[in-house]
Amino acid sequence: MAVDDLTLDFDPLHTLGFLRVDWIERHCKVPGGVYEGDDLAFNGWQLYCSVNHHRIVPDAVVDPRRLLAPFHYRRSVVVGPQKCGKSPWGAGELLCDGVGPSLFAGWALGDEVYRCEDHGCGCGWEYEYAPGEAMGIPRRKSLLGLLAYAESQTQNVYEPLQTMIHSGPLSEFVFVREGFIRLPNRGKIVPLSAAARSKLGQPLTGGLGDESGLYTSSNKVLDTWQTMRRGIAAMQGRTIELTNPWDPMENSAAQQAFESKRDDIFRYYRKPPADLSYGSKRDRHKIHAYVYADSPWVDPAGIDAEAAELVETDPTQAERFFGNRLVQGLGAFIDDALWTRQTRLEIIPDKRISLGMDGSVSGDWTVIRAETIDGHRFTPTYGPDNRPTIWNPAEWNGNIPRGEVVAAADQLFREFKIARFYIDPRHWETQADAWELEHGDEVVVQWPTNQIGRMYPALNRYHTDLVEDSTTHDGCVVTRTHALNARKVAKAGDRYILGKPSEHQKIDAEMADVLAHEAAADARAGGWARIRTTKPRRMAVIR
Ligand SMILES: [Zn+2]
Repeated sequence: MAVDDLTLDFDPLHTLGFLRVDWIERHCKVPGGVYEGDDLAFNGWQLYCSVNHHRIVPDAVVDPRRLLAPFHYRRSVVVGPQKCGKSPWGAGELLCDGVGPSLFAGWALGDEVYRCEDHGCGCGWEYEYAPGEAMGIPRRKSLLGLLAYAESQTQNVYEPLQTMIHSGPLSEFVFVREGFIRLPNRGKIVPLSAAARSKLGQPLTGGLGDESGLYTSSNKVLDTWQTMRRGIAAMQGRTIELTNPWDPMENSAAQQAFESKRDDIFRYYRKPPADLSYGSKRDRHKIHAYVYADSPWVDPAGIDAEAAELVETDPTQAERFFGNRLVQGLGAFIDDALWTRQTRLEIIPDKRISLGMDGSVSGDWTVIRAETIDGHRFTPTYGPDNRPTIWNPAEWNGNIPRGEVVAAADQLFREFKIARFYIDPRHWETQADAWELEHGDEVVVQWPTNQIGRMYPALNRYHTDLVEDSTTHDGCVVTRTHALNARKVAKAGDRYILGKPSEHQKIDAEMADVLAHEAAADARAGGWARIRTTKPRRMAVIR
């Protein structure tokens, strides 16, 4: 092994790990990167974690009614930096759970052999047990769940999994279907996310939770994972969690597992030496050399460069992602209780509003939020179907539909009396210029949210007005999610801006909401006329 502190503290015969690692090497190929197509060989931390996760207690006996009893650990949590090989390890483990030896089958006496042909695989592979070694057999029917924080993120493990099936002998009897993987005897591997709760009803015999450091009670994925784990335990199955280091402010699934007093959870987390500072370029390199020592496919210079770039915008995230450290962020910008208490389902009686827009091209969302002269924030609607002015690129073939956004803004200008319209101009400069020409530069204002000097005071005002209940909102669920996602990112001089906790946790609707409030507050300060209204208009609430 590459890392000298990975020594076993038990008899190496008392595990299914070596059998399984050999099985995986024979049946799975490296799914990508510089070693793509080679046999998937687990060394270093990957071998260490496999051997520990499948550790068998010394007095284990074969009892079909008690499938969990032979195992020393009920579940495992593996923490590592980006690109250290968690995804291929998890994919290999899942496939071996699905069709390889995953249950205890007694102790070898001398000449026992695991033969693939005895278990429905025609590849001809055999494994000779050492005398006294724990033996394994496949579960007859495996139903495995693969949980990810978001739908898009199931790909982290699901994609390598599919590549491994296609590129090796498993393609003879394991089939990639639409939305799941078919295992023998009507078994399955199913990718799941919290959004697909309906699929959680099915009984599972095992599961893998990817990025469990992001599963929290506020995003409800923690609850989903706990439900899944209970179901799996009832079927006498075991689970694995993979994650980057988490934010200790969030009490995520990974954090709970690590802080739990239970001794039947295997935990792997190799922390870099504490005396090295992630802020120093030289120390940072030493930290990377340490945490990636076990991952020969990683180019340390490439990691140094990626980390250096992320350090500039979000040092906390960089230290977690690449430095493999638990770093406390400044925490959430808004808590659930504060957000919820200001929800008002009301008719918008007034045509006088201000607007805020956070634009994007792809990846991030584009959102327009509004605030009335009386301080009620809402998501307007547009078009014949009264669509909300929220565009998620995933719903538009990956790209924000600019024509829709422009049509929506035009309609809002026709239907309302817009006092101010603040736009974060990134990627939208040309359109912002056009609106400015059309409606005047006292109304349309380009307002870059990445300028700390103006963003910090705006966030402060927004937060103070929320705390003092001088503004209300419509309960729009997207804006709520984005508001609760938003994290404070520390900047010089005790100031902060907002950041997202992960690429998949968007905050764009919250940014638009902050801009709408800033626009309205500035308009009020500038003597926004308090004249009574034209006819009422009901606003849609998105559910
Ligand atoms: Zn085989």
